[in-house]
Amino acid sequence: MRSSVSTLIEFTSRGTRGIAFMTISIGCLFTMDRILCPTFCMATVRLDQISRRFGKTTAIADITLDIPDGEFWVLVGPSGCGKSTILRMIAGLEEISSGDLYIGDRRVNDIPARQRDVAMVFQNYALYPHMSVAENLAFGLKMRGMEGGQIQGRVQAVAEMLDIAHLLDRKPRQLSGGQQQRVALGRAIARSPQVFLLDEPLSNLDAQLRDETRAELKQLHSRVGITTLYVTHDQVEAMTLADQIVVLDQGRIQQIGDPRTIYTQPANRMVATFVGSPPMNILPVVYTGSGFQLGSQVLPEDIGAKLQPNQRVELGIRPEHIQVGPEGDLAVQVTLVEPLGREILLRAVVADTLDVFLNLQVPIAQEVKVGDRLGLRFDPEQICLFDPGCGDRLYP
Ligand code: ATP
Repeated sequence: MRSSVSTLIEFTSRGTRGIAFMTISIGCLFTMDRILCPTFCMATVRLDQISRRFGKTTAIADITLDIPDGEFWVLVGPSGCGKSTILRMIAGLEEISSGDLYIGDRRVNDIPARQRDVAMVFQNYALYPHMSVAENLAFGLKMRGMEGGQIQGRVQAVAEMLDIAHLLDRKPRQLSGGQQQRVALGRAIARSPQVFLLDEPLSNLDAQLRDETRAELKQLHSRVGITTLYVTHDQVEAMTLADQIVVLDQGRIQQIGDPRTIYTQPANRMVATFVGSPPMNILPVVYTGSGFQLGSQVLPEDIGAKLQPNQRVELGIRPEHIQVGPEGDLAVQVTLVEPLGREILLRAVVADTLDVFLNLQVPIAQEVKVGDRLGLRFDPEQICLFDPGCGDRLYP
């Protein structure tokens, strides 16, 4: 494999691009990857107790992350939780107040941004308006003193990979938002950096384009394999793209895990309610010794959790794990009906309470209207319990 790769790179650098591109166009993706990333460098990213303070405000507190080479990690959390600050510190655009940052084996705290070999893509693309797409793609390579023929080869390879080769002569203002976004990604890929940093790169796109581009981004990463950190507040992007998700809140890590673990075993109430749409229902209950009391109703306790009688806990259950029918263990009254096409989302208040609400989902064929009284049954295997004070998961 390596010999064919180096042959291809030599062809490109000698200007016999036709041969190289013929090879690319027949779909030999791994060879294209090698053109883009001809050198194999370890690109782990390690944050060791990193903090960032702005005056008396601590934006980032003691963050420790160890991102293996080639993985796609997503930082997710509500607005202001510190996602962009972490990315900017890795890029070298933000000072680190304390802690150590490593890219590969190199401690980079004091290394200027341009020497860190990372490429960052922002939400607003930040393309050079007076340059064509080709010039935008080539800019970073020229700055590094790459030879002309080689630049042309790489620009063409990236453009074909992102399906923007037909746009190379256009200026950014002559492109749609989605096309501009691809150019911004292409500019980063062309540099073949050790690390990609993507800060909400899809948030300016409309819903359909966003879904499409998200899928393409995932395929692209599996082809190029560059260590990637991706920031979003959109938990669907986090779930679909990530090898590992880092959930942040108020500058602190709440949980690190693969998407399935984050979804099924949230470390605390914040993660349980942030990830998932609609979010996990959280019900304030009191353990009676044999059941969970909620208002005047008692739900059966059939999960074997080790609790003390009269202990207050929060019971968590996702909408898809609640059976909704005319009868059940918990009586509720429907307050909102939202047909979504494939299913109907319901909002319902627990009977005899004024302020305990649940999100439910039922098949589109089920006839439900506001004011209906329904009965719920929870799947006991899917119940979580949380500490009502600190919010940590107590069970399972
Ligand atoms: P969003 O999703 O809204 O972009 P975020 O999670 O990326 O938010 P950051 O932009 O990283 O959040 O900001 C984290 C915290 O640091 C916020 O409370 C913000 O107000 C604060 N912060 C960021 N930059 C500065 C600054 N230059 N001076 C003071 N506080 C700042």
